[in-house]
Amino acid sequence: MRRALALIFLLTTPLLRAEVQPPRTPFDDYLVAPLRVHRLVTPGELNLTTTLEEKDLHRIFEKVNRIWGHAGVHFALEPILTEPAANPNAYRQNHKSRQLRWLLAIRPKASRKADCFHIYYIKRFLANGVYIGRDGMFVKDMARLRTVEDGVSEPIPRVTAHELGHALSLRHRQAVTNLLASGTSGWTFNAAEIKQARDAAKKMKWIRAAPEILKAADALYKKGDEKKAAALYRQLATIPLRCPETARAVLRTKED
Ligand SMILES: [Zn+2]
Repeated sequence: MRRALALIFLLTTPLLRAEVQPPRTPFDDYLVAPLRVHRLVTPGELNLTTTLEEKDLHRIFEKVNRIWGHAGVHFALEPILTEPAANPNAYRQNHKSRQLRWLLAIRPKASRKADCFHIYYIKRFLANGVYIGRDGMFVKDMARLRTVEDGVSEPIPRVTAHELGHALSLRHRQAVTNLLASGTSGWTFNAAEIKQARDAAKKMKWIRAAPEILKAADALYKKGDEKKAAALYRQLATIPLRCPETARAVLRTKED
């Protein structure tokens, strides 16, 4: 009997420790937003060089998407870009300024494009993260947060998810377990925030509903255009949900 209890304990412990509850949003309700991650790695400029590897960023976005899954929003990562900061002098001239708009000057020009979110990772600046515009969000490696009960255990996914909240029109709300509280590890939304963020997402034409993307992907696949289909399936494959739709997306992403 005791052995059985111990076994039950072992089996359930990891679930109890899950820091962000798994979302229960059904596939049909997901809105999918393309997002470009920029790993800034700048020779001779330690502060403008992230120490995060690609695999770290994939892990970070797994958590970001677990948080945002509760609002039915999914951020689909494009292949991660590693590139040097443009204009490193901007850092030396402005890094003590509380006004953070100078960060826009370090974005490499060639890798910017319309119709997706852009987040840049660097080692250090004067805040944990900042949202300046949908093509200018910045998060630093050295981010630190006040830990709250049931909060996210590492700061960078929380800071990233918080800035994306601003990108979807949300303002600060200082309930400590809330994602939009300043400087805490909280990750939750209330119903009004979920509605507001989803309404904002629906106004951006390049954010599409998951079933619409799946339909387009299936049509391309049927026509034999597997490469283009795979690019769309890839947007769906990381939705944190086990269902036939995501299973098909995962499978057909691998066929590419
Ligand atoms: Zn904020």
